[in-house]
Amino acid sequence: MIYIGTAGIPSITEGDTLQGIQDVKKIGLDAMELEFVRNVYLKKDSAIEVGKIAKNLGIKLSIHASYFVNLCNPEKVEDSKKRILSSCEIGHYARAKYIVFHPGYYGKLSKEEAYEFVKKGCEELMEEINKNKWDVFLGLETTGKKSQFGTLDEILKICDEVKGCRPVIDFAHIFARQGGEINYSEVLEKVKKFKEIHTHFSGIEFTDKGEKRHLAISTNQPDFKELGKELLNKDFGGKDKNIIIICESPLIEQDSLRMKKIIGDLEK
Ligand SMILES: [Zn+2]
Repeated sequence: MIYIGTAGIPSITEGDTLQGIQDVKKIGLDAMELEFVRNVYLKKDSAIEVGKIAKNLGIKLSIHASYFVNLCNPEKVEDSKKRILSSCEIGHYARAKYIVFHPGYYGKLSKEEAYEFVKKGCEELMEEINKNKWDVFLGLETTGKKSQFGTLDEILKICDEVKGCRPVIDFAHIFARQGGEINYSEVLEKVKKFKEIHTHFSGIEFTDKGEKRHLAISTNQPDFKELGKELLNKDFGGKDKNIIIICESPLIEQDSLRMKKIIGDLEK
């Protein structure tokens, strides 16, 4: 099944996260990513309530953890881990399975050195997650800027080597990073082994440095319909695979519904 939903509380929502989840359901969507990008805005008690409502309504929850994370910088690593772990804890109570984050920046490091830093950071994070028995995955996102750690291959290698890590495929980021190109079937082939795949989608503006800003999906940069065809392709898993697509366009709910309609039309 393909679950589609908003990055954050829908813009039509007048109220909090609980209302947001109900609105997501009401307009016909199936997922919502809680935006803890600036702060973890739920406490344990409200997270438990949020998780219950989402479960009852059949809405898949995930969390986007802090933007202020850099596992590649020794001076920032401890603070970064704390930020990710506070999202993991609240995510556990909210039954949000994927805790999404951008692992870091290469800075002065070589690609290989940066890789070792991210790997070590993820191993230490998983140790804490396991110790606390939090039921979450560390969701390492494919990043959009060339200065950021996070090509698809880098992310997949970490996920191979550190148990509990999962790739979060941001198709627009891959497209921007590759100068306006993406081969969907190649990307999906690489993640086929996962039973469930968490992804982000939007249009995107980019320069030679990569991502500049997210755009509406009507730009067709990248093209959502082509992705839909590949997702429904039997070779990939078709309707039997669980795919979660979080819409990160500036029109979060309109474009989520638009994507849902495109998938619905392709399924006919
Ligand atoms: Zn992100």
